[in-house]
Amino acid sequence: MKDSYGREINYLRLSLTDRCNLRCVYCMPMHGLSFIPTPELLTAAELEKVVRAAVDVGFKKVRLTGGEPTLRQDIVEIVRRLARIEGVEELVMTTNGYRLPYLAQELVDAGLKRVNIHVDSLNRESIAKIMRLATFDKAWAGIEAAEKVGLTPLKLNAVITRGYNDDAAVELARLTLEKSWQIRFIELMPFAGPTEIQLEHYVSSDEVKSRIEAELGPLFPINNGHLDGEARVYRLAGSLGTVGFISPVSNPYCDDCNRMRLTSDGRLRMCLLVDGELDFRETLRGGGTHQDLVALFQRAIQAKPVGHQLRNGQFAENRTMSQIGG
Ligand code: SAM
Ligand code: SF4
Repeated sequence: MKDSYGREINYLRLSLTDRCNLRCVYCMPMHGLSFIPTPELLTAAELEKVVRAAVDVGFKKVRLTGGEPTLRQDIVEIVRRLARIEGVEELVMTTNGYRLPYLAQELVDAGLKRVNIHVDSLNRESIAKIMRLATFDKAWAGIEAAEKVGLTPLKLNAVITRGYNDDAAVELARLTLEKSWQIRFIELMPFAGPTEIQLEHYVSSDEVKSRIEAELGPLFPINNGHLDGEARVYRLAGSLGTVGFISPVSNPYCDDCNRMRLTSDGRLRMCLLVDGELDFRETLRGGGTHQDLVALFQRAIQAKPVGHQLRNGQFAENRTMSQIGG
């Protein structure tokens, strides 16, 4: 289904929980957090109902995210329920990978196709500084587990921030010389909430690209400069993998936006960076039918804003990134 600006909306991101086993500096504070109580989270059965309605209005791709989606005790059941829905053409997950050594095979057996794994550095000190409770060994074990069971092609996501992981861009991009992975650099985005860092630590995609090129040589655009999802994608000479840049701040891709996001407590956000939500949980728990959910999706698609307003200094103030899921 097209929104009122002619964009085909077909990609639904589901945040399964706002909890996480890590505390990345730009995402969650170390202390003083309060989480959504478990009874307020959508259950596996409710998520299935939402996705069944979503495919009826033309959604084709579903991504599970969080917080950390693998912390849900019923994560395998959720995957199993969603994978069997006719019309879900791609079921994928964004994760910090920590629990993949225990879960990866079960997730594949349940129908998960791919994972994007978040790792902000390969250096032991900087990873501890930026992802705080993370260690390199555990991050790497998650990546290896995903590869082993075929949750591929693998994409690794990193946020480069000044003063925390300045060394990471080159070392991560270097991986593409030997691995057929896509390493994606996401620009730091501002959010409300007491995170340790905000935009003063922002590094633009152009700067990250220049740092990589200064060390590893030119990055050649592929896809004729077209977006791969939200990423602009490049390749180093002779590499097996690719390097992507996701630049919501310096080069917004709102004109090509095809997505909506459901928070773990069942609110549908029409834009990551604009407050404004529709309450699906109320409909689900108030005896709403499949058609009611379909109608809610139709309303949401019509209400999707033209784009975010970061350039005018406006950003999402009612939610943290860990509640929305990126
Ligand atoms: N826990 C999982 C993970 O880390 O991939 C899934 C949720 S996390 C919110 C999804 C993505 O959002 C991660 O790649 C993370 O780096 C990114 N992220 C979190 N806060 C951000 C911020 N303020 N700006 C840009 N990206 C952010
Ligand atoms: Fe957790 Fe992901 Fe946020 Fe890091 S970015 S604190 S891993 S939800």
